[in-house]
Amino acid sequence: MIDFRPKRLRTKLSLGFALVLAVVLLLYIGGTSTILYLQLRAQLHRHAIADVETLKDLLVFGADGKLQLHEALSDPAPKLLRQRLLEVLTPAGTVLLRNSLLGNRSLGGKPFPGEGEGGFSPRSILLSDGTPVFLVSRRHIVQGNPIIVRVGYSEEEMSRTIEEVLGAQLSCLLLVLLIAGLMGYGSVRHALEPLEQMALRAQQITPQRLHERLPVGGAREIGDLARTFNSTFDRLEHAFDQLRRFTSDASHELRTPLAAIRSVGEVGLHKDGTREDYREIIGSMLEEVNGLTRLIDDLLMIARADAGHLRLNRSVFPVFDLVREVIALIEVLAEEKAQKFILEGDEMATVDGDRLVLRQAFLNVLHNAVKYSPVGGVIDVHLHINGRYVLVEVADRGTGIPPEHWTKVFDRFYRVDKGRSREIGGAGLGLSIAKWAVQTHGGDIGVKNNPGGGCIFQIRLLLCGGIGDPAAARLEQPQMSSVLTPPEQVRE
Ligand code: ADP
Repeated sequence: MIDFRPKRLRTKLSLGFALVLAVVLLLYIGGTSTILYLQLRAQLHRHAIADVETLKDLLVFGADGKLQLHEALSDPAPKLLRQRLLEVLTPAGTVLLRNSLLGNRSLGGKPFPGEGEGGFSPRSILLSDGTPVFLVSRRHIVQGNPIIVRVGYSEEEMSRTIEEVLGAQLSCLLLVLLIAGLMGYGSVRHALEPLEQMALRAQQITPQRLHERLPVGGAREIGDLARTFNSTFDRLEHAFDQLRRFTSDASHELRTPLAAIRSVGEVGLHKDGTREDYREIIGSMLEEVNGLTRLIDDLLMIARADAGHLRLNRSVFPVFDLVREVIALIEVLAEEKAQKFILEGDEMATVDGDRLVLRQAFLNVLHNAVKYSPVGGVIDVHLHINGRYVLVEVADRGTGIPPEHWTKVFDRFYRVDKGRSREIGGAGLGLSIAKWAVQTHGGDIGVKNNPGGGCIFQIRLLLCGGIGDPAAARLEQPQMSSVLTPPEQVRE
């Protein structure tokens, strides 16, 4: 079945506009025609009443007993005889007089009971030849004889007048509709042109041409729409850029240890070594594999976090316990460098969060403090309540971070000193994961200079009422696990 409904918005709007206009104009024409009809009919009524009265005054019974018009007396008589339909009857229905215009046609037939008594009786009738007539009758006494005087007006002229007016109005309506339709179509088309241009431009925006933007023009609403889309494209472009950078950084980071494994393997393959040499080669290959595994774990965690697949498994626990647990995990590494942790502060401050996710954050920051602190260094961890927050400060006396890198160190794959950091083993993902973990809990992470040398990492987490708070009833015992928590342990 063919669907004739218009598809284009401009056609729909123009047709809708024309339809509404047509309905309004038709109502207007209907109203004016009805008023005209009622006015003309009222006019006929008034004239007919006057004519009945005039006619009554002109009627006389002649010597022969016949009713006739007193023509000599006045001049309305000829006019009446020429232009009106006249009939005079007895109340019983005997016709006493008919004018020539009426001929032998009856003007309303036999009188109905009470016709013309006590007032004028108006009605519309059809003559025997179908002529519509407006008729007014009145009962009178002429020379002692009761008579009914009827005066009729053909309604044809009135109908003709109304038809002419109606015809003229309908022609105007068609003209107005045509002009309004064309103008409406033109203005709608003009108003929608920016939308079409936007659609055309949007078709050209591909992942390779994400810098393109929609033209901002036309009416304010369309301009606002274009601006909204453009800001969406801004965000998309930014996200795409980040994704591209992440992919290329990730492949670069993956390639380096793979190349190292390959070259170590090739060297081992081409030289005849002792059993000890091979053990050393395999050991260094395994070391690279460990680094690779850690990197892949981090990448996996970031990918899951970005995809929103990581759901927080919340519980209420004291932060002090968590930090103590993390220190216990990496103490072995610190001992290798003869470093010492000093942990102090509020032991009761609790937070409501995912223990494993937050542990990863503290692990990354504390592990960095170990990595970037010199042999024999002291790492101070201080924990206190600051307003609505628990503030954990990790101060080391290591290399420190120049202020221009303070925000960047939390970006993915960002390393202050690329060569050194790789040597130490990081891919530049640890702090970005810590930042994500803390921010997911409504907290914040930052870095500043340590006046005694090195830097201070500050982690701010939303305080959860402390002991005694109803939420604190969910207090959990800390769990122990291996030094570097594989991201798989962070529940989905
Ligand atoms: P990485 O795995 O390379 O340590 P991170 O994201 O944890 O990556 O850290 C980003 C960079 O910030 C590091 O490469 C290092 O240059 C710098 N950094 C982090 N923590 C410290 C610290 N405690 N002292 C000095 N520099 C640090």
